[in-house]
Amino acid sequence: MPKKRKSGGRSKGSKGKPVTVHCAKCGRLVPRDKAKKKTRYQSVVDPKIYKDLKKQGAIIPKRQVIQYYCVKCAVHYRLVKIRSKDERKGP
Ligand SMILES: [Zn+2]
Repeated sequence: MPKKRKSGGRSKGSKGKPVTVHCAKCGRLVPRDKAKKKTRYQSVVDPKIYKDLKKQGAIIPKRQVIQYYCVKCAVHYRLVKIRSKDERKGP
């Protein structure tokens, strides 16, 4: 069967089986090298309190949230786009 991508959409090479992660939207188990990683910075405090504190000039720490998405969800939520054959990386 012909392959759409040489790597199968992954970056593991000949490493063997990598760690699997859960998709943040649908919960599907995906290998970490295939999943789309998205880092967000979330405020520690409640958004309502955040506004008031910001007015007073307080420095509010932000928490880093790393989320993984499966390919299906990444396309649906427009993190990545479907590319045509000549736009894709590699053969
Ligand atoms: Zn998903």
